[in-house]
Amino acid sequence: MNERPSHLFYQGRQRRPMLDQARGVYMWDVDGKRYLDGSSGAMVCNIGHSNENVLEAMRRQMEKSTFGYRLHFETEASEKLAAKTAALCPEGLNRVFFVSGGSEAVESAMKLARQYAIAVGQDSRWKIISRAPSYHGCTLGALAITSYDPLTKPFDPMMQPMPKVPAPRAYLDGLDPEDEATGHHYADMLEAKIIEEGPDSVLAFMVEPVGGASTGALPPPRGYMERVQEICRKYGVLLILDEVMTGAGRTGAFLASEHWNLEPDIIVMSKGFAAGYVPLGAMAAHERLVEAVLDWGGFLHGYTYAGNPLACAAGAAVIDEIERQGLVQNSATMGPKLMERLEGLMQRYPIIGDVRGMGLLTAFEFMADRGSKAPLPKHLKAFDRFVNIAYEKGLIVYSRRTRNGVEGDHIIVAPPMIVNDTHLDEIAGMLDASLAQFTDEIRPELDK
Ligand code: PMP
Repeated sequence: MNERPSHLFYQGRQRRPMLDQARGVYMWDVDGKRYLDGSSGAMVCNIGHSNENVLEAMRRQMEKSTFGYRLHFETEASEKLAAKTAALCPEGLNRVFFVSGGSEAVESAMKLARQYAIAVGQDSRWKIISRAPSYHGCTLGALAITSYDPLTKPFDPMMQPMPKVPAPRAYLDGLDPEDEATGHHYADMLEAKIIEEGPDSVLAFMVEPVGGASTGALPPPRGYMERVQEICRKYGVLLILDEVMTGAGRTGAFLASEHWNLEPDIIVMSKGFAAGYVPLGAMAAHERLVEAVLDWGGFLHGYTYAGNPLACAAGAAVIDEIERQGLVQNSATMGPKLMERLEGLMQRYPIIGDVRGMGLLTAFEFMADRGSKAPLPKHLKAFDRFVNIAYEKGLIVYSRRTRNGVEGDHIIVAPPMIVNDTHLDEIAGMLDASLAQFTDEIRPELDK
């Protein structure tokens, strides 16, 4: 993690170890150190690394063609993946548009929704309501519906402000997430916002069914998603589900929306959809929307690399592997076992203030005091420090500090869906050792 000179740059100055190879749930750096990929990268490598069947499907496609521009050729690979995706989506969402990542998928959904409104004579609708905090991507459109101060603030003058409603963080508000009244309390804030903005101006509500990077594996309170859907229908507001992180089995169903039998207008996916083998994302839209837009004159949107045959072949092979190995079921079975281990750690480490999740998308949040739910002081940089300690012990986890009024550091634990009990014990063991070291290190600073 030293600083070494390089032409490459991403976020900060801190460098990371050089990756050599990865197999299954493990990764090795060039010095031979082994890591357990406890967060599947950024909740991406759902089927594990270097799956031989996916590599073979990619090899076969590469020998045929690696590029066919979508306005010149259709390919069997993109047709096949579109059909597989549609079959896994809720009724009616049978038109699929491919992109190269989550932000592109979100942008595509925002623009399809807007064009649909125009096509059906509702030009006045353009506002997309989302939640605070939330993360929907880093391009300027997706950023406008993202609510995560450190990432959005500098770009505010360049973006169209979009309305936000509070994310349902029942655990912070002292409400019971199992009580339907809690779900309705948060969903009703959406209705109030639609009325405040003027229903004729509201185009869509964009929501992650289980909150990811911004809120740390936050399942909705009981009754929330169903009520949200009802409210959207009542006001003619499109429901767009951002399943970039939750899709492809991560929460114990192929799509998280299945947990509540939702019938959204659009679903966007990426991350686990191609499981890190290639850059790929998808927007699945209701045929009603797509037909209206095509009748109007066509969708004014598209990326050069969209529908790339190599990416689509990899995506189709990933879905095949998820089905062949029963990985959605494994995510549903192993998720609660992982949660049990995290809850065990919470009993032993008072610094953990909350444990939550769904399927193999789980998280714990640090708190200085469980009673008052006070977060750890910002200057401790807990999220960064904990990740580095775990890294040294050979465990990769994903962490963020949530902002937007309520501060808190959460650590996401979301291993590949191929994990077994032994892997979970290994993860819990390394978390235990990391928590012990972390607590020792920060206690004197906390007591100051
Ligand atoms: N939506 C959600 C829910 C995400 O978690 C992410 C990525 N963290 C994105 C969109 C953006 O995806 P990408 O980084 O692939 O552009």
